Amino acid sequence: MALREIVTLPSSVLRRKARKVTAFGPELQTLIDDMVETMRLAPGVGLAAPQVDEPLRVIVVEFGSEEDEEAPKKLFTLVNPEITRPSEEMTVATEACLSIPGYVGDVERHEAVTVKALNRYGKPQRVKAEGWLARIFQHEIDHLDGVLYIDRAEKVWKLEEADAQVVPAD
Ligand code: ZN
Repeated sequence: MALREIVTLPSSVLRRKARKVTAFGPELQTLIDDMVETMRLAPGVGLAAPQVDEPLRVIVVEFGSEEDEEAPKKLFTLVNPEITRPSEEMTVATEACLSIPGYVGDVERHEAVTVKALNRYGKPQRVKAEGWLARIFQHEIDHLDGVLYIDRAEKVWKLEEADAQVVPAD
């Protein structure tokens, strides 16, 4: 595994629509392993392939339980993910992005979503998520369409150094 450089604004790859994955060979496996390592080191709770300069529809997410901080974190690898069944209920929370260092913003998202995707070997999977996990999925899948949280934010502001660890970044 190897670390990849996380690209930041104004890199144009962050604004492109990423391509669907059609090959599940060694190149994809290496990309996914590298993305997981890069996300963990950042540290972040999610990473989309365009953030490491690969315009492909791949995201990785690793997030623990909101209720139980001791619970082990769960790793999700989603290829060609699509949101199905977004909840009518919406919720606003403060987001950050590894590709927009130093800023945070309040973003309205669906409280719950189901995500239809393939796993790293091309097998179909379906994940139900609510709360922060649902928010992370929506943030990451937006990246695949060249959409950033600042496009949706009601308010964006510069983060003070002291608050830098408050908001999980993806
Ligand atoms: Zn992001």
